[in-house]
Amino acid sequence: TGPRRPLIAGNWKMNLNHFEAIALVQKLAFSLDEKQLSDVEVVVLPPFTDLRSVQTLVDGDKLLIGYGAQDISEHASGAYTGEIAGSMLAKLGCTYVVIGHSERREYHHEDDALVNRKIKAALKVEVTPIVCVGEKLEVREAAGHLEHCFNQLDGALDGLKAEEIARLVIAYEPVWAIGTGRTATPEDAQEVIGALRERLAERHGKEVAQTVRVLYGGSVKSANIAMIMAKKDVDGALVGGASLDGDEFAALCRFP
Ligand code: PEP
Repeated sequence: TGPRRPLIAGNWKMNLNHFEAIALVQKLAFSLDEKQLSDVEVVVLPPFTDLRSVQTLVDGDKLLIGYGAQDISEHASGAYTGEIAGSMLAKLGCTYVVIGHSERREYHHEDDALVNRKIKAALKVEVTPIVCVGEKLEVREAAGHLEHCFNQLDGALDGLKAEEIARLVIAYEPVWAIGTGRTATPEDAQEVIGALRERLAERHGKEVAQTVRVLYGGSVKSANIAMIMAKKDVDGALVGGASLDGDEFAALCRFP
């Protein structure tokens, strides 16, 4: 992956209350040493209600673990009941936010245009978007996966300047591999991630394409991370289920 620092991000989804969040982050901090945390960037993405507790722990003990949120409002503030603004995330020290996760696309009908507006909202407050793309099983079976991912990527990046795109993280998450135990092969991951990087190069320049980190997500665990990371265009992983257990997630972060 050359100059791109590997990123392992744990998406907790709707799991772990703030007590459990503190215990898990403490466990990670205890299990990973300074060298490991400088070789690999380790980030947790807890529910909103845990963020203050995670911030207090990370700041108080100067932990080398980052954190972020799982979603962001497209709006800056105002009458949007139940939503969380980017400025609120930034104020809590969040460095990342997941945008366009397949569960939000599926259960909350988020489309590429909304994903695009959320990316702009995050960039405005200097929180790094982790932009998710990925195809469903029927699209893969019809061999439409590359076209589908290109469309999602192009929609997400619409109207962004090259220097803004360079700040993003992209995650390729085939929907059929999320939470199913069915991991894409390292070759499947490389095929799509390599193609996404080429698409970035064609449309936004080589330098941007070489700067943007592209992660793989879908049933990643300590037992399969090393083979996935061995692929040249894979810069890290977005991890769901395996990020909920401190020992397992720490083992996964020690892949190099
Ligand atoms: C995810 O939802 O981002 C994910 C990759 O989940 P899992 O690792 O559980 O497949």
